[in-house]
Amino acid sequence: MKPPPFEYVAPASLEEAVAALGEHGDEAKALAGGQSLVPLLAFRLAAPSVLVDLNGVAGLDHLGADGDRLVIGALARQRAVERLPGLGRRCPMLAEAVAQVGHVAIRNRGTVGGSLAHADPAAEWPALALALDGECQVVGPRGTRTVPVEDLLVSYFTTTLEPDELITELRLTLPGGRVGSTFVELARRHGDFAIVGVGALLGLTSDGSVALARLTLIGVGERAVRARRAETLLEGERPSDELLDEAAAAVDEAISPTSDLHGSAGYRRQVARVLTRRALATARARAEGKEEGPDGQA
Ligand SMILES: Cc1cc2nc3c(=O)[nH]c(=O)nc-3n(C[C@H](O)[C@H](O)[C@H](O)COP(=O)(O)OP(=O)(O)OC[C@H]3O[C@@H](n4cnc5c(N)ncnc54)[C@H](O)[C@@H]3O)c2cc1C
Repeated sequence: MKPPPFEYVAPASLEEAVAALGEHGDEAKALAGGQSLVPLLAFRLAAPSVLVDLNGVAGLDHLGADGDRLVIGALARQRAVERLPGLGRRCPMLAEAVAQVGHVAIRNRGTVGGSLAHADPAAEWPALALALDGECQVVGPRGTRTVPVEDLLVSYFTTTLEPDELITELRLTLPGGRVGSTFVELARRHGDFAIVGVGALLGLTSDGSVALARLTLIGVGERAVRARRAETLLEGERPSDELLDEAAAAVDEAISPTSDLHGSAGYRRQVARVLTRRALATARARAEGKEEGPDGQA
C-alpha cells in the first residue's frame, strides 16, 4: 500500500521543527530515520497529515564522551554508535545490543532518538538506556526538560512526550572500574526483533562483591523493564553461582509477557530466566577479567 497524502515540512533548525509540530499538534509526526514510521505509513497504521523531517536540522547528530557519560544526539544513527572505536571494551552491553538491532541497512538510517520515541517493547535502546541511567533532553514550545528514560517509557509505543516535543539528546552513564556487561537475546532469525532480550551489568568491589547490578529486559511486557528486586539481591553479595540462579529466578516478578505467534507467555518467562542467568555469568566473567568484550569494530 502507499501512505495517505501528507504535507512534507523540512525545517532547518530545531526552533522551526518545534514550531511546525506545535502548529499541527496531533496531526503532525517527526520523521527521523523512517525505519519505523515509514512502514507504519505504508501499512496505513499511522496517517499524519504533516511530516516534519528532522534530517535537515543542524546539531542533532553529535556523539561523544563527556567524562563517564556517552552523549548521543537524537539524530545520531545507530550504526554510528556501533562504530565508536573501543566501544566493545568500554561497554560490551552497548556494543552487543546495538549490533542486534535489525540489519546494518536499518542501523545506517535508524536513529537513537527515533528508537526511544517509538518505544517498541522489543527494542534494544530503551533497555540500554534503563541499564545505563539514561536521561533524555526534550525540547518543546514550553522549553527544555530532562527526562529519565524510566519516566519516558509508558507502554506499547507510548511515551510521556507531548506531540509537539522532540528528543534532542540521550545521555548514558558508563560505569568504570571492575565492571562487566553483556546484552543477549533470542530471535527467530538474525535481524528480527528479539523474542526476549536481557542486558546485564555487574560492577565489583576490590574484594569481589557486587557493588552495582543492572538487569533490563525486553520482549516481556508493554515496555522495557528493570528487574529491580533481582538487582537488590545481587548488590552487596558475592556473585556465586547460587546467587546468580536466585537473581535469574527473581526476574519473573518484574515481567508481564503476553502470548503471541512467536511464543507463549510461559515460554517467554522461561527464556527470560535462562537468558538472565547466562547474561549474569558473562557479566561476572568480564568484571573479573576472565572474558573480554567484543572489540567494538563492526
Ligand atoms: C526490518 C526492520 C527490523 C528492525 N529491527 C529492529 C530491532 O531488532 N530492534 C530495534 O530496536 N529496532 C528495530 N527496527 C527499528 C529501527 O531500529 C528504527 O530505526 C527505530 O525504531 C526508529 O528510529 P528511526 O530513526 O527510524 O525513527 P522514525 O521511524 O523516523 O520515527 C519513529 C517514531 O519516533 C518519532 N521520532 C523520531 N525521532 C524523534 C525525536 N527526535 N523526538 C521525538 N520523536 C521522534 C517519530 O515521529 C515516529 O513516531 C527495525 C526496523 C525494520 C524496518
